[in-house]
Amino acid sequence: MKAKAAVVNEFNEKLEVKEVTISKPGLGEILVKMEACGVCHTDLHAAQGDWPVKPKLPVIPGHEGVGIVEEIGEGVTSIKVGDRVGIPWLFKACGECEFCLAGKETLCMDQLNGGYSADGAFSEYCVASADYVARIPENVDSVEIAPILCAGVTTYKALKISGAKPGDWVAIYGIGGLGHVALQYAKAMGFKVVAVDIQDDKLTLAKELGADLTINGKNTDPVEKIKEETGGVQSSISVAVTKVAFEQAYHSVKRGGSVVLVGLPNDEIPVPIFDTVLNGVSVKGSIVGTRKDMQEALQFAADGKVKAIVSTAKLENINDVLNDMVHGKINGRVVLEF
Ligand code: NAD
Ligand code: ZN
Ligand code: ZN
Repeated sequence: MKAKAAVVNEFNEKLEVKEVTISKPGLGEILVKMEACGVCHTDLHAAQGDWPVKPKLPVIPGHEGVGIVEEIGEGVTSIKVGDRVGIPWLFKACGECEFCLAGKETLCMDQLNGGYSADGAFSEYCVASADYVARIPENVDSVEIAPILCAGVTTYKALKISGAKPGDWVAIYGIGGLGHVALQYAKAMGFKVVAVDIQDDKLTLAKELGADLTINGKNTDPVEKIKEETGGVQSSISVAVTKVAFEQAYHSVKRGGSVVLVGLPNDEIPVPIFDTVLNGVSVKGSIVGTRKDMQEALQFAADGKVKAIVSTAKLENINDVLNDMVHGKINGRVVLEF
């Protein structure tokens, strides 16, 4: 069948919105008619070819997709026509390697990623793997829930592995698409939250969402301010796309604390050996979340504890959305509505 989709043909060129051919769902696959898809900064990295591992080209980005199952392929028993599902970054994993077997499927060496190594949800229709799509809870709006499929599950998981406990201070660096939901998960988990960004409107949003302390990293040294106000946070999560935020995140934690790297600038930060050893600091990477994390992250939203702040756009305007993202003009998340 034919469908309208946004396609990356070459890196650093505008996406082309055009008719593409969608294959019939094969063994274990489903055909999903998309209703909404959030635009993640990862889609921008994909379109720019920013990372050491490149996406396939051409590629249809999009891994915060929500839609209705229209057709099921051979062998699909767990999902039926009419179900509402989510197209995630963890598009498919092998199910058999040591990581998959140990409940660490996001580390599978044989995984496919939605909108990167597999065509994603910036498309009227998407073919996905029945075993790996998310089940969308009933009482939520498709547009509002879309960002939970990546921004939500990713930050929920990062906070889970941070080791912070209720009552602890946690710093979130970058109050964009990921950060503004990170902050809400952090509050729901009982943490005290410092929100750091370099734009005042993002910090105004952070305050509205319950941040206990907000810092504009452009005018104030966040490390000094955090040490002064909290004595150092138990954990800092960097979801910004700049090296400096990661360095500041590192230096914001107190003894025994953790730094969780989530944002993906193609860069490096120096980790001082002496301080890391003497202060017992751990530095961890965190990549999206498993299907179990996804269920839990969606439930927080279904229970009304977390709600993405969204504005909508049409598929035809995807290049304007990405351009606004480059210039930091988006508050919350933009969701494409089909
Ligand atoms: P975004 O563009 O919506 O948000 C980035 C935010 O960082 C903006 O609010 C910006 O103002 C802020 N920022 C920029 N410089 C800063 C600084 N020096 N200090 C503090 N804040 C600063 O992007 P997003 O969609 O939230 O994605 C963020 C990053 O996370 C991207 O690199 C994306 O690829 C990555 N990501 C990682 C995972 C994962 O599983 N690890 C999942 C999704 C996205
Ligand atoms: Zn994403
Ligand atoms: Zn595997």
